[in-house]
Amino acid sequence: MNCIFCKIVKKEIPSKILYEDDLVMAFEDIAPQAPIHILVIPKKHYSTVLDINENDKELIGHIFMVIKKITEQKGVDEKGFRVVMNCNSQGGQTVFHVHFHILAGRQMHWPPG
Ligand code: 5GP
Repeated sequence: MNCIFCKIVKKEIPSKILYEDDLVMAFEDIAPQAPIHILVIPKKHYSTVLDINENDKELIGHIFMVIKKITEQKGVDEKGFRVVMNCNSQGGQTVFHVHFHILAGRQMHWPPG
């Protein structure tokens, strides 16, 4: 499968990894949209959030624990941050391997573009 994030997981292409365990990896976005822009992904390939099912509840909970840990390490937990997941074309998804964006370090606005 020609998935760029699977290649990052397998370390076939470089990335700035901030966190890794058996299930999850977090790395810096290559085109940051905020001073802090980190992607948190399951190592297992899911194309979109629609592929996540009942059996994955623990994994998704774990991902949110990792998100919390990273925001604490970056010192943005109290100031605030945004977590985003885009799904399919109108949702703005461009990489079809499930990922959560952590955006922080500037004031966020609503509604997003
Ligand atoms: P999406 O638009 O699918 O929600 O987000 C995909 C994100 O992946 C974008 O923010 C984009 O900058 C990032 N991205 C795409 N290719 C690479 C890559 O090769 N390395 C890293 N670190 N980020 C990437």
